[in-house]
Amino acid sequence: MGVEHIDVDVAVVGGGYAGLTAARRLQQAGKTVVVLEARDRVGGRIWTSRLPDGTPVDRGGAWIASCHDAILGLMREVGVSTYKTWVDGAHVLVDGHRNRRYTGLIPKISPLAVVTIALAQARLDRMAKRVPLDEPWYAKRAAEWDARSVASYLEHCGIRTGIARELFEMAVRGLFTGDLEEVSFLHLLFLVRAHGSIGRLFSIEGGAQENLVDGGAGSIAHRVAAELGDALRLSAPVRAVGQRHDRVSVEAGGVTVSARRVVVTVPPALVLEIAFDPPLRDDRMTLYRNAVAGSETKTLLVYDEPFWRAEGFSGQTSEPGSAAEVTIDATPASGTPGVLASFTFGRVARHFDALDPKARRDAVVDALRRRLGPRAGSPADVVETPWWTEEWTRGCSFAHLPPGALTRSGPLLREPFGLVHWAGTETATTSHGAIDGAVRSGERAAAEILDHLEQAVVPRQ
Ligand SMILES: Cc1cc2nc3c(=O)[nH]c(=O)nc-3n(C[C@H](O)[C@H](O)[C@H](O)COP(=O)(O)OP(=O)(O)OC[C@H]3O[C@@H](n4cnc5c(N)ncnc54)[C@H](O)[C@@H]3O)c2cc1C
Repeated sequence: MGVEHIDVDVAVVGGGYAGLTAARRLQQAGKTVVVLEARDRVGGRIWTSRLPDGTPVDRGGAWIASCHDAILGLMREVGVSTYKTWVDGAHVLVDGHRNRRYTGLIPKISPLAVVTIALAQARLDRMAKRVPLDEPWYAKRAAEWDARSVASYLEHCGIRTGIARELFEMAVRGLFTGDLEEVSFLHLLFLVRAHGSIGRLFSIEGGAQENLVDGGAGSIAHRVAAELGDALRLSAPVRAVGQRHDRVSVEAGGVTVSARRVVVTVPPALVLEIAFDPPLRDDRMTLYRNAVAGSETKTLLVYDEPFWRAEGFSGQTSEPGSAAEVTIDATPASGTPGVLASFTFGRVARHFDALDPKARRDAVVDALRRRLGPRAGSPADVVETPWWTEEWTRGCSFAHLPPGALTRSGPLLREPFGLVHWAGTETATTSHGAIDGAVRSGERAAAEILDHLEQAVVPRQ
């Protein structure tokens, strides 16, 4: 079969939420585009698959905060709606051999532990306010904060009680999913700044986990893709991007694209697998080599109905270090079947990944049975997605930066490289790391490109 040649204004590499949004905005502005997506589906880190009965379930990104205006705006455009995550009933925190039931935000651990967690969160929020959202590397104390790891900060943050410390460490590890020794403290402060407060990142009500998408988060991508029509090419992994004079050429298997601009939206680690001509500079390569995403497994446990609700549980449970470190009710809007989403993060995800699949599944189910009773021991289905083994993602939820990287080369995250522009949640400021950040980054890249293309047609005076 011959190679197909396509001539467009803009080539978009990657059909996740950043790429799809960039393409949509460019098309709306009258530009011709092509989206080249490596997988045989759109959505990237958002992946809604179907259970045997047709129920959509989210294997990747799923939750949306009520302040996530960009993704909510896109959803309104394509006619997709949200519903509230179930929160009624008792949450369960496993502390050693004890199940502590509680309602609201704060587990029933010692008052001293509760106070130390609250103080640590307030301190983090205060420091985060001093980080400029668009240029965290220009914070007054950027050098000091970027030289430190999150692990070192947690050691000295004043939370001493056993379970409180484990809980806080797990919650922060859950944000980055990597080993906290390898995450810059400045990156944590920037993340907090990008989401308003650390409490918002951790919370369901009023927080990042407040809403789910009716029909699954992937339904948004499917609708955007349908409108893109022929402009979307699936199973088209981009291998090479070359720039000559005022044109850029993009090679993706059976397709060669000639464009005026290209926007690359793949996770940073995957940029390294594209051959650039002229080549990317060393400082950019080093940034991408360092920007790794962590290990996280999301396991969906499916039951005939959300039995825990009738038994007075919310479905929100936690046990740091276990095979189900955090669970949250992810039942579809229709109310059946009952779905619990269970997560393990970083070193804990890797520990359980070393078990054979049956032992791993038994460990998750057993942990849930001990928290929610015997019915939790017999799920109708278990759907497991170890994201760091996904060829076109390699880690989740988003890339974290090690000490030193943000101050050394943070500006390169968004700085164009000739005719090549960059998008993707890792390049976002507001909602950095989240679906909303991906959409915002796509909009920013589209605006940047439109600006350049308009300038190119303004006649010289
Ligand atoms: C398990 C998990 C849970 C999460 N939970 C949430 C959540 O609840 N709420 C939230 O807001 N966020 C969540 N996130 C994060 C959210 O999913 C991401 O921030 C967002 O989807 C990133 O979108 P993106 O477009 O920037 O990148 P991606 O979705 O990674 O898109 C990049 C695309 O590029 C493609 N690609 C890669 N290489 C090439 C190549 N060479 N050529 C062509 N195409 C290529 C990929 O296949 C992919 O489709 C979660 C992520 C994971 C993995």
